Amino acid sequence: MFITFEGIDGAGKTTQVKLLAQALQEAGRSVEVTREPGGTALGASLRRLLLEGVADGSAIDEHAEALMFAADRAQHVAQVIRPAMQRGDDVICDRYIDSSVAYQGGGRDIGADQIRALSMWATGGLVPDLTIVLDLDPALSAARLNRPADRMESAGDEFARRTREAFLAMAAAEPERFRVIDASLPVERIAADVRAAVGL
Ligand code: C5P
Ligand code: MG
Repeated sequence: MFITFEGIDGAGKTTQVKLLAQALQEAGRSVEVTREPGGTALGASLRRLLLEGVADGSAIDEHAEALMFAADRAQHVAQVIRPAMQRGDDVICDRYIDSSVAYQGGGRDIGADQIRALSMWATGGLVPDLTIVLDLDPALSAARLNRPADRMESAGDEFARRTREAFLAMAAAEPERFRVIDASLPVERIAADVRAAVGL
C-alpha cells in the first residue's frame, strides 16, 4: 500500500508517519518510510536549495520552484518508491503530489491543474492508495514549530491558510483516496485515527 501524509507545516506529519510505520511493522509488514522533498541524494541537494535559498540570495522564480519539487519527486519515485512497491513493501511518504498542488498551486497561485499535470508527468502517474490530511488551524501550527521558520515556511499566515484550504478542497473532491484527521487532538488519538484509516 502506498500511503501519503499531507498537511501544513507543524501539523505533526513526521510524528504520525513514524507511529504508523511502527504499527505496520508490528502487524508484520515491511515498510519503507520516506519524505519529500529530500528522499534521495538528488532530492537532498534540491531540498537544501529550496529551504535555504541560493548562494547569492536571489529569489527563486515560482515556476523554477515548482520544477525543483517535481524533479525531487521524479527521482524519488524512480529510485525509492517504485522499487519498494515492487518488493511488496508498504510505502509511507511524508508529503507527495498534493503538497505541490496545495503549496505551489494553491498557496502560490500558479494553477493547481498545471502543477498536478507536472507531477503526474514526473511520476508516470503514480497516485497514492491512501492520503491522510492532518488538518490544523495555521494559528496552532505556527505555535508548534519551535524552531526558526525555513524559507518555505516564512511565507506567512495567509499563505498557510490558503494551503490548508487547498488540502481540504482536494480531500472533498476525491473522498475515496483522502482521509482528513483533526490534528489538534492528542498524538495517541490521531495515531488511532490513522490506524483506523489504514485498516489496522
Ligand atoms: O514537510 P517539510 O518541512 O519537510 O517540507 C519542507 C518545506 O517545503 C515545508 O516548509 C513546506 O511548506 C514546503 N513544501 C512546499 N511544496 C512541496 C513540499 C514542501 O512548498 N511540494
Ligand atoms: Mg517543515
